[in-house]
Amino acid sequence: MATNFKAELTGCFGRPVAENPTGVMQEAAFRAMGLDWRYLTIEVPPERLGDAMRGARAFGMRGLNLTIPHKVAVMEHLDAIAPDAAMIGAVNTVRFDNGKLTGENTDGKGFLRGIRQDAGVDPKGKRVVVLGAGGAARAVVTELALAGAAEIEVVNRSVERGAAMVADLRAKTGAAIRFTPWEGVHRVDREAGLLVNATSIGLFPDIDAAPPVDLSDASESLLVSDAVFNPPETRLLDAARRRGLPTLDGLSMLVYQGVIGCEIWTGKTPPEDVMKAALRAALGLH
Ligand code: NDP
Repeated sequence: MATNFKAELTGCFGRPVAENPTGVMQEAAFRAMGLDWRYLTIEVPPERLGDAMRGARAFGMRGLNLTIPHKVAVMEHLDAIAPDAAMIGAVNTVRFDNGKLTGENTDGKGFLRGIRQDAGVDPKGKRVVVLGAGGAARAVVTELALAGAAEIEVVNRSVERGAAMVADLRAKTGAAIRFTPWEGVHRVDREAGLLVNATSIGLFPDIDAAPPVDLSDASESLLVSDAVFNPPETRLLDAARRRGLPTLDGLSMLVYQGVIGCEIWTGKTPPEDVMKAALRAALGLH
């Protein structure tokens, strides 16, 4: 048997990265796919991002993720930006194609795949309520708009940030997106088919916090989803379940953004169950 000791590299650049579990699920996928590839989780300070990207080109890396604080800054080091990543204005995944580096954003796409595959909900024609106007909300709202959601209501605490995001994405996507300032408790109406928490409310260590929403008018088919994955059992999902509503946790979005990244890099269909199991094990879940 011919021996090949050459390393095929993928990885993530960010700071901090110590608690980023993506490498565990990507390496599990590579093993299951019979690929002798590695995923390196590397701390890169902001002022060294250019050096790191030149290194990625020099090493002939096969794939790359970017996380905080590099998702916007990396764009000037790439050869092209995919249309949806350009609308979002941030890149979390780089496609390497014969030396050409293209920026992609798989966060919103991962969210969409999760609601379709894990919850059986298609956003096309639906009225959606998105809580938050940060990076995750931008990606989710953009992909929901491109997927044909009938109306997207963005609810955010900071009026300036929320209104600016809505005006920008409405102009870029042409979709019906509107802004509601978050004052007191936000009442989710009966017409909404999907509620997304894309704020960091409920994120560890503030696990007892829940976004101030009232679900008493909600339709019984409202899917309540949370981008927060640490912990995956959030107060919001618990409250929704107690009302008998269907729910989807943030692990779904996290797994599928990784699945889509793996597809982009390898050109193959990754084993989703293997990736989910590896991620759950890495996070100490069963
Ligand atoms: P940002 O910091 O960019 O945005 C945070 C958002 O949360 C803002 O809209 C902010 O509102 C809002 N917010 C925070 N605290 C409060 C509060 N006390 N009351 C009301 N609103 C609040 O974060 P990201 O968009 O990057 O991340 C948001 C969440 O999504 C995080 O929990 C992150 O872990 C998760 N995430 C999950 C992913 C997954 O794969 N599951 C992928 C990416 C992110 P304001 O503008 O008023 O400050």
